[in-house]
Amino acid sequence: MPRPIRVTVDPAAFRANYLRAKAAAPASRAWAVIKADAYGHGLLRCAKAAAPVADGFAMLDFAEAEALRAAGIDHPLLMLEGAFDAADTRLAGRLRLGLTVHDREQIRMLETESLDQPIEVFLKLNTGMNRLGFAPEQALALVSRLKGARNVANVTLMTHFARADDEAGIATQLARFDAACDSLNLPHSVANSAAILRFPEAARDWVRPGIMLYGGSPMPALASAESLGLRPAMHFESRLIAVQSLSPGEAVGYGGRFVAERPTRVGIVACGYADGYPRHAPTGTPILVAGRRTQTLGRVSMDMLACDITDIPDAAVGAEVVLWGRGLPADEVAAAAGTISYELFCAIAKRVPVSVTEAP
Ligand SMILES: *Cc1c(COP(=O)(O)O)cnc(C)c1O
Repeated sequence: MPRPIRVTVDPAAFRANYLRAKAAAPASRAWAVIKADAYGHGLLRCAKAAAPVADGFAMLDFAEAEALRAAGIDHPLLMLEGAFDAADTRLAGRLRLGLTVHDREQIRMLETESLDQPIEVFLKLNTGMNRLGFAPEQALALVSRLKGARNVANVTLMTHFARADDEAGIATQLARFDAACDSLNLPHSVANSAAILRFPEAARDWVRPGIMLYGGSPMPALASAESLGLRPAMHFESRLIAVQSLSPGEAVGYGGRFVAERPTRVGIVACGYADGYPRHAPTGTPILVAGRRTQTLGRVSMDMLACDITDIPDAAVGAEVVLWGRGLPADEVAAAAGTISYELFCAIAKRVPVSVTEAP
């Protein structure tokens, strides 16, 4: 028998969450951001689920774009970090990939390489994130240079927000963007999930929802995924493979980090950090056992973790455990572990079997 751990991905939830993004930005087209193997949910699985309704897909690995084209996905595709070399630039022409352009070498390649067809270019402006992009003041000159490049079909102006999910918001960055871009009369793409849901003024020609498509709240400190109308696309579950009874003073796990203060029933779950569960999740991280909410105890090991089933007397070996998903938002586990749902989703390990929720 295989280990009882598994991930189930719900393509219908992914599609519904995409439509939720579209409803929040009804006049915009939306890139479904499926980078990093669709945030750990499976690239082709998610792309196929959303294909009937999606305007396009965004990612950054050229092998992922090739996989989509090989699977017959004919939609617009956008490469979020652009070409890494000249071969990528030529591949973009062959496969009709839109390219982000964030540095001069990428422009030079568009001017000098010979492409099968002109491609869509997304000119990335750095308005305050300070990772990628040109100073907004250079936009005018760069646009005219790009318009003169024979491999460039159209130019869209793009930026990315650093704080769309917190109290700082997007006002400063959007003002810098608009000051440089208003007069250029080109399409815009600025909003990630948090901006789509919080700032309607950021819904320009193209929006770029990512985490919300997977049912994670882009701003868990402000709003739960459920309150935002998002459904979990990933359900991560396992089972109890042992039960221990601790007397007061006894400890569980490496380092003896949890010491029982009362007689405690401990459930041992077949899930550890080698499955993608965060090792730094402390005692008290929420977990569901037999449908009841309880908490983890002690350190997470490579293949196992412990939880408190003292108050779930019917929980025995074989009891169902939900690590996150339906009934336990990944955002709550992430908050307890000091991280974000994005990281939990992306960290699901190769050894965990993934299946797909059947349509009801
Ligand atoms: C990942 C990414 C997004 C999606 O961000 P979410 O917070 O997941 O919605 C949008 N734009 C760019 C450039 C990205 O890299």
